Amino acid sequence: MAVDPQRLAAKLFEFVQINEEGYAIFDADDHLLYCNRAYAQILGFDADMLIGRTFLDIISLCYNSGKGFKTDAEDLDVLLARVSMQWRSNNYRLFEMQTNDERWFLFSEIKNEHGEVLIQTKQVTEQKVLEQKLLESRDNLRQLALTDELTGVANRRCFVESVEAELHRCRRHNYQVAYMILDLDHFKGINDSFGHQAGDLVLQHVAKLVKKMLRDYDIFGRIGGEEFAVFLGQTQMEEVLIVAERIREAIADNPMCHKGMCIMLTTSIGITLCNSAEHAYLDLYSQADQALYQAKANGRNLCQFYPGHEI
Ligand code: GH3
Ligand code: MG
Ligand code: MG
Repeated sequence: MAVDPQRLAAKLFEFVQINEEGYAIFDADDHLLYCNRAYAQILGFDADMLIGRTFLDIISLCYNSGKGFKTDAEDLDVLLARVSMQWRSNNYRLFEMQTNDERWFLFSEIKNEHGEVLIQTKQVTEQKVLEQKLLESRDNLRQLALTDELTGVANRRCFVESVEAELHRCRRHNYQVAYMILDLDHFKGINDSFGHQAGDLVLQHVAKLVKKMLRDYDIFGRIGGEEFAVFLGQTQMEEVLIVAERIREAIADNPMCHKGMCIMLTTSIGITLCNSAEHAYLDLYSQADQALYQAKANGRNLCQFYPGHEI
């Protein structure tokens, strides 16, 4: 049976009128010719208020009355400039929009050969919320994978990756870099005397102390049980000496007090200072580790440079 186009158009119109998804048609001069109730409701107005306005007029109306969609544009001009760049830029275009009441809509914009535009909306709030939750948990997982659970500082993997990236940058400028390993003295004794839990608190306490001694761009991490490491890019001997001594003193001067008892702490620090162009990460680690071994052999609670002298 042949379809009567007029009857079909009337039926389609009936359905569009009651549809929960929005429909709008703009004429070739960009005036809103028609929109259904759902479309007007997304923007926060009655359809009567919108019919006859241009698309940019409608955007301005929403912005000025705080209705409709959310935007991060700092003012209306910026918003209109942004929207004008996109609007009618293609025969078919999709874009997402968040309303002030936290709903999300996918808009499709179809332009025909006469320059008339049909807008259709589809609510995608559930998908969007799910997507955001997935992104959040991905970020949390990434953060967890990079953070030492006990102390909250970078774990070994994160520390090594950060140092390698920074080394790469320093090499281009031929900077001197320093790498130090801090190893708490007689930590096994602390665990034995005060318990493993107190030992954990000591590690948190030390991480906090060291962090306070460093600048934002220094790299710090926990690389082993009671071993921490610090990387200073673009540095020189006097500066390294000051930083290392400050850390050693801070730890010696700040016992960890807990449940009425104070646990005295000291740390030995092995340091290497070298030209970034000539050394890979493992060289730095190995040199600092040898210096640390010397610091322990020389009596602990001191800073030791590779290959040489005590401070
Ligand atoms: P030294 O001065 O020679 O460094 O002596 P030390 O006792 O610190 O050295 P050693 O490396 O033999 O001991 C380290 C101890 O650190 C052994 C281990 O049980 C303890 N340890 C490692 N990880 C943790 C942790 O996460 N929590 C606690 N409480 N103890 C830990
Ligand atoms: Mg150790
Ligand atoms: Mg130790």
